[in-house]
Amino acid sequence: MKIYNFSAGPAMLPEEVMLKAQDEFCNYGGTQSGIMELSHRGPQFMEVLATAKQNIRDLMNISDDYAICFIQGGASMQFCMIPMNFLPADGVADYADSGTWSAKAIKEAQRFGKVNIVGSSKETNYDRIPVVRHWKPTENAIYLHITSNNTIAGTQYHTFPPVHKDVPMIADMSSDFMSRVININDFGMVYGGAQKNLGPSGVALVIIRKDFAERANKDLPTMLRYSTYIEKDSMFNTPPTFAIYILKLITDWMKDQGGLGVIEEINNTKSEGLYELIDRSDFYSSPVYPGSRSKMNVVFRLPTEELEAKFVKEAAQNGMTGLKGHRSVGGIRASIYNAMPLAGVETLVDFMIQFEKENG
Ligand code: PMP
Repeated sequence: MKIYNFSAGPAMLPEEVMLKAQDEFCNYGGTQSGIMELSHRGPQFMEVLATAKQNIRDLMNISDDYAICFIQGGASMQFCMIPMNFLPADGVADYADSGTWSAKAIKEAQRFGKVNIVGSSKETNYDRIPVVRHWKPTENAIYLHITSNNTIAGTQYHTFPPVHKDVPMIADMSSDFMSRVININDFGMVYGGAQKNLGPSGVALVIIRKDFAERANKDLPTMLRYSTYIEKDSMFNTPPTFAIYILKLITDWMKDQGGLGVIEEINNTKSEGLYELIDRSDFYSSPVYPGSRSKMNVVFRLPTEELEAKFVKEAAQNGMTGLKGHRSVGGIRASIYNAMPLAGVETLVDFMIQFEKENG
């Protein structure tokens, strides 16, 4: 039976990528050594790194004003690196509070300076993106931080807050990185843990405007400074070579798909299929405000928790795994990142129709 893995991350990878990695695991490019065994300063890995970066530049249309860095410690490390680098004790950073991960980023920033919460949807259980026109920004904020897709609540920004030229916008894009076309020039920095759309956990992809990076605190330990990664091309220490190799394969795959425009259209089709079914059914319901629904993490409820448990169990028996909602909110969550094929979503939709017939 074909298994479709709807897990929120680490998540499904394209089959072609897995097979290619398997193929090259023990013998990379005829070297008789696996990529993991090759020196990070050797020609093979240097080419992998350069190609991964070029692929990202091409796919996201990124100019030389921005640096592309691979930083260990996942997205959570960025929660502290950002304020460490940019937020002085007497400075104010603006944060939008749109879910659990935003709240974690806010908590870290509060260790270093002052945080102004520009808008929050906490009172309505993060069922929406806080309405931008009601935000209360700080006049001279050091930066504005948003979470573009809220993996647990199942919400996503469909338009980004307006750009303010003196306040760089930083976005945690962990769960919708490279799933759609964005204008990178609207951002001072975007970052994300790679384990959803980009492959391996433990590494963050950080795209940062070089002139913004120059404003950073120069007194930090070397490994915690963005400038180190920029100046040393993410190679001050031994980088996570295997993770970067997988990222290279995944971005090759994205190019083969036709780029982010094509990927975005497929993602739209996939999520629309699920939301249409949820909306026309009296059995399934969406806890998310329609204008804020995520195209990556589709969360929904069934009439009772018992039925939800039965749904998760029977779906797994039918080849659909990882559908249990996050432990903090319950319900069902179908994570449908780039690598989830349309056929996987169609299989889930068919199963949902059948399950409703039998249990509705
Ligand atoms: N931000 C978001 C939006 C996430 O979904 C996650 C992980 N699920 C994180 C940050 C934390 O990422 P990591 O585990 O790589 O630190």
